[in-house]
Amino acid sequence: MSYVKGLRCRECGKTYAVAPRVVCDCLAPLEVVYDVEGWKRTMTREKIASRPPNMWRYHEFLPLEGEPTCSKSVGFTPLVEAPRLGEILGCRKLWLKNDSVNCPTLSFKDRVVAVAINKAIEFGFKTVACASTGNLANAVAAHAAAAGLEAYVFIPDDLEEAKVLGSAIFGAKLVKIRGNYDAVNRLCSQIANDYGWGFVNVNLRAFYGEGSKSLAYEVAEQLGWRTPQAIVIPMAGGSLITRVGKAFGEMAEIGLIERKPFKLLGAQATGCSPITVAVKRGNPEFEPQKPSTIARSLAIGSPADGYYAARSIMNSGGAGEDVTDDEIVGGMKLLAETEGIFGETAAGVTVAVAQKFFKQGKIRPDEETVLCITGNGYKTLDAVQGKLDLGITIRPRLEEFEAAVPRAGQQVPVTN
Ligand SMILES: *Cc1c(COP(=O)(O)O)cnc(C)c1O
Ligand SMILES: [Zn+2]
Repeated sequence: MSYVKGLRCRECGKTYAVAPRVVCDCLAPLEVVYDVEGWKRTMTREKIASRPPNMWRYHEFLPLEGEPTCSKSVGFTPLVEAPRLGEILGCRKLWLKNDSVNCPTLSFKDRVVAVAINKAIEFGFKTVACASTGNLANAVAAHAAAAGLEAYVFIPDDLEEAKVLGSAIFGAKLVKIRGNYDAVNRLCSQIANDYGWGFVNVNLRAFYGEGSKSLAYEVAEQLGWRTPQAIVIPMAGGSLITRVGKAFGEMAEIGLIERKPFKLLGAQATGCSPITVAVKRGNPEFEPQKPSTIARSLAIGSPADGYYAARSIMNSGGAGEDVTDDEIVGGMKLLAETEGIFGETAAGVTVAVAQKFFKQGKIRPDEETVLCITGNGYKTLDAVQGKLDLGITIRPRLEEFEAAVPRAGQQVPVTN
């Protein structure tokens, strides 16, 4: 049984039946409308908590008609306390939502693709496709392979090697475009209508975005059915941060959690910061940029949900901030050295931006704060290449080791 009522234009309010569709006739994006009264009648904490630990424990809040038929093990990633990082940032109550271990492709994009692929199957598409900065391509390629669909992934031609190979391994057809993501996306908008393919972030975009909400439901449940006071989220197209705000609002509206204020805090790289610049100016109408940053997964100069992301941040009393490439690498190292989590460049953005927010007083030390770690560092090794201490090389001889590492007294007395 489905709680989906249809699609509605975010601007003019025109409604449409559930179908693959790029935008409204007025060119504004579409959103999914649900039976909120139905949620209120039927959804309880107990019902959700009794289900298996994956994102489908919230399936009534996602836009499928029936049960999911593939991508069943996505989500319910760990929410871990981060006291050592918190001490350095100046935060007494810090958590990390660790989507760098999401299943199967190690980024939060597994959530959005899980919904989009299931929706593509419901609609009867045989081929799925996407315009991607890397992680989305990996997820589409993997989920399509497991569902037995053909996949075409469109990517900029200068992506990290691990992200290219991480799509090719699944047998997806790669189309590398000489240009940045925004050029890739423009081409895909032209192709989507002609080829009869399910483009997860073009003609399935209204459904795809909804998958992001599952991250927020999980955070609230894992905190003991409440929202954090602050949540720091990396932004590319601006979909994730917008949907996190929407999901917390939905939970409060139907009484799953108490309605309390939460600040949405957006993080970008300085080399691609259209949304944070707009927030700092106090006007959600962003100016497109030409991206230049090592945080390639976030390098979208003309973000599709940028306006809504900026507006959500401003309405929540949050803030936006951006960091340089050096600060991004610093953030990646800090996260790894304090909490043992190797996040990708986007995680470096999130950690380094969070550090700025605490310094600026935009998040206070006693505010319960969640940082969203959205992708895995093993996919962006290029970013730390040449920037880490790789240690020493010696022959297998005790005297060489003793010369290289002087003994500084026994730490723990050992008898042998
Ligand atoms: C896509 C992506 C994001 C942001 O996603 P949007 O919803 O487009 O803002 C954040 N982190 C990583 C690692 C991503 O791949
Ligand atoms: Zn419209």
